[in-house]
Amino acid sequence: MPEGFTLVIAHRGACGYLPEHTLEAKAYAHALGADYVEQDVVATRDDELIVMHDIHLDRVTNVADLYPDRHRADGRFYARDFDLAEIRHLSVWERRGEDGETAVFPNRYSSVPGRFRVSTLREEIRLIQGLNHSTGRNVGIYSEIKRPAWHRNEDSDISRQVIQLLDDLGYRSKKDACYLQCFDAAEVRRIRHDLGCQLKMVQLIGENAWGEADTDFDELRTPAGLQRLAKTVDGIGPSLSHLVTLSDIDGSPVSLGLVTAAHAVGLTVHPYTFRVEQLVPGFDSLGEMVRWCVDELQIDGLFTDFPDQALAVI
Ligand code: CA
Repeated sequence: MPEGFTLVIAHRGACGYLPEHTLEAKAYAHALGADYVEQDVVATRDDELIVMHDIHLDRVTNVADLYPDRHRADGRFYARDFDLAEIRHLSVWERRGEDGETAVFPNRYSSVPGRFRVSTLREEIRLIQGLNHSTGRNVGIYSEIKRPAWHRNEDSDISRQVIQLLDDLGYRSKKDACYLQCFDAAEVRRIRHDLGCQLKMVQLIGENAWGEADTDFDELRTPAGLQRLAKTVDGIGPSLSHLVTLSDIDGSPVSLGLVTAAHAVGLTVHPYTFRVEQLVPGFDSLGEMVRWCVDELQIDGLFTDFPDQALAVI
């Protein structure tokens, strides 16, 4: 069910302004007025749940400096190979590219290491709950289970753990300010139908080429795929590229019809990712892009690195 207005989901926190997934970025997102704050979740060696976008630690921390020998054969440093106590020593910095040096978004927060730390899912949710208490607001939790099949191969049932933790912290029904999201469609069905999760759930939709999950995302976007999804989830989280294209005639933005098709089977639509650095061609500003998607497509929510800029036009 739509909530009656367009939800602003702080993607990895207010990561347009502070290093992604730090508590600082989450507190700032809360202060800027986001409706929901996103957590990506991966598991450590000692089965702690931490908030981290990648199963790797090396793009956003100094893990290679502190633990130079702890990479796998592919040269990457995996959160699953470290205990939480070790991960707590890491400094988090602004995301870097494959060379480990260049900032992915050079105009964002300085990539010089600061006192930023990796936090656990529990710590982050407690922070948001504390801020909700002190501000009288009810900012929600929007957690993504990362790479569940990979985790299972590493002897981690991350989905079961996340659901249990959310339950412990008071999130267990659709009335609660909490969404659970995942790219892996088989896992989404398992979470709902086998593990009995009653939370609002969102099926993320990516590109098959990303290799994010053993899921045919192209099929999910068909009418039959959407109809089947509606038996399991409350909404979909597609890429912006699935929603809008440019007119052959005048180059103006045109709907691809996915939002209408999803609404027709009762699914809400929360697209990703609204960034000033990655405007869809045809738009001159983030505000203009948000306004068009709200007015023309009638999206129900959006993931953005800049929650204040989205809120300014909603
Ligand atoms: Ca995510």
